[in-house]
Amino acid sequence: MVSGGSCLECSVCCKSFSNRDSLKKHRNAHFGIYRYQCKFCDKGLFNPDDLISHESWHTGVMPFRCHICNASFRYKRVLRCHMLKAHQASGSQT
Ligand SMILES: [Zn+2]
Ligand SMILES: [Zn+2]
Ligand SMILES: [Zn+2]
Repeated sequence: MVSGGSCLECSVCCKSFSNRDSLKKHRNAHFGIYRYQCKFCDKGLFNPDDLISHESWHTGVMPFRCHICNASFRYKRVLRCHMLKAHQASGSQT
């Protein structure tokens, strides 16, 4: 029995690993290969906008900004929705 060590375990099959990289690679085999990997945690994303939104939870920075009223948003779709509702614009410069 191992005590005191921080053993990394795959949440899917309970196999344990000695380092984060091998666990990460192993979990990719369960979940498929993500194209975009969060640089702060193990989470992988399938598109760049999702990665930007996810990483904002770590950095606290709202990545999408309205160029008209300077309001900032965590998700691109929320910004797009704001542009339509608040400015009747599609997000492109007027
Ligand atoms: Zn596994
Ligand atoms: Zn993350
Ligand atoms: Zn705005």
